[in-house]
Amino acid sequence: MDRRSFLGAIGAAGLTTASAPLRQSFAATAAGPSGRVNRVAVIGAGIVGASIAYNLSRRGCEVILIDKRGPAAQASGNSFAWINATYFDMPPSYYSLRVHSQNEYHRLSREVDFPIHWGGSLEWYHSAEREKEVAEGVRRIQQLGDPTWMIDESRVAGIEPNLNLNGDRQVAYCSSDGAVDPGATTMALVEKVNDYGGSTVFPARVTGIDQHSGKIRIDTDIEPFEVDLAVVAAGASANEIASMIGLGTDLVKPATPGIIVTTRPMERIINMISYTTDTHFHQLPDGRVVLGEKAGPPLTEQHLTYLTERPNAYPTAELAMQHATQIIAMASRYVPQFLGAEVDKVGVGWRPLPLDALPIVGHVPGMPGVYLASMHSGVTLAPIIGHLAAMEILDGTRVDLLSDFRVERFLR
Ligand SMILES: Cc1cc2nc3c(=O)[nH]c(=O)nc-3n(C[C@H](O)[C@H](O)[C@H](O)COP(=O)(O)OP(=O)(O)OC[C@H]3O[C@@H](n4cnc5c(N)ncnc54)[C@H](O)[C@@H]3O)c2cc1C
Repeated sequence: MDRRSFLGAIGAAGLTTASAPLRQSFAATAAGPSGRVNRVAVIGAGIVGASIAYNLSRRGCEVILIDKRGPAAQASGNSFAWINATYFDMPPSYYSLRVHSQNEYHRLSREVDFPIHWGGSLEWYHSAEREKEVAEGVRRIQQLGDPTWMIDESRVAGIEPNLNLNGDRQVAYCSSDGAVDPGATTMALVEKVNDYGGSTVFPARVTGIDQHSGKIRIDTDIEPFEVDLAVVAAGASANEIASMIGLGTDLVKPATPGIIVTTRPMERIINMISYTTDTHFHQLPDGRVVLGEKAGPPLTEQHLTYLTERPNAYPTAELAMQHATQIIAMASRYVPQFLGAEVDKVGVGWRPLPLDALPIVGHVPGMPGVYLASMHSGVTLAPIIGHLAAMEILDGTRVDLLSDFRVERFLR
């Protein structure tokens, strides 16, 4: 999603089918936020599902984590993974949720071992008009109390000496941002679920959800599972699950792709996340540099058709390397030391983006046995969503912080 234009579950075989909506039958079930939830299936082992599964497990809930591929196999494995609250034109409630999640990362990283780096971020553009927009955006988030301000080139040279802005630029500096390795973070959370005695079932594709004797039955292409509640954290596949449970509306837009390149470890060159007109990059604690693109290289229609069918595989190794070289060349205009970097991985991530770009979190009205969690910025938001979802599921609390993000807004 462009940072500058932010505002711009499920029948047992033989019992029900995807075309037989289940809303009425769910309305009668007692399973759900009543304090009687002991066994939960989490559908989707991306960073959001893994965080919810972890938070439920650490509170003593029996968790079954199911994924049709495996941990971080979709968006979470190919994400830029910048932890930030600094979209400049977002509603205050969304800003607040993001700040809570940044704080939650500090707690989570004391409990779970994963690669995280807090260096702050720099954002700038090569046009006077956009520079002005950024300055205005900074003023708006300063009103919300965000630790972001504008700095000039000489100040940038002092704090990020290897960065060449290619001109005397005004730059938005945010001191509270960080970045993670999203694949490793997801895996670390999944391992904790196993440590707490949870089950992880990969690969298993969920094909249906049904109410059965006051329980929720989840059908997969391997075996069925009976639980008290199902959490749907299926990322860009949220519409598929929504139609399985007869929700009657899409939840997310068609996913858009983004290329992410990861280099082999290098000496520490940069400390911050940099985000500019054509590219963005940061360096992980182990020295690997992560780069994303804003202005190419292009994925053709042919590539996209290929990738839609095989979301994990780049069309060819040659094309992957060609794209990686182009992205590294773009970024080396800002950090010359990137030239000659060895490529470790090139991936295409598909962004899950709710219809109005805001997260979708909470119980489904009339279906107390189903809890939804689908969002962009899921890497930023995973810690707080995991923590709050566990409270809503296990304690029956309705968390005010989530009130602007309920699925009801699409059902009116
Ligand atoms: C290129 C790119 C850059 C990004 N940059 C950032 C960033 O800088 N900061 C940030 O915060 N966010 C960023 N995002 C967004 C962020 O990565 C996503 O919001 C986040 O990864 C979503 O996590 P998730 O767990 O909801 O979804 P996913 O990681 O997509 O996981 C969903 C899982 O559900 C499984 N699944 C789906 N259907 C079924 C089924 N029927 N049965 C079983 N399993 C199923 C899938 O296999 C998948 O593993 C970026 C995304 C991309 C693609």
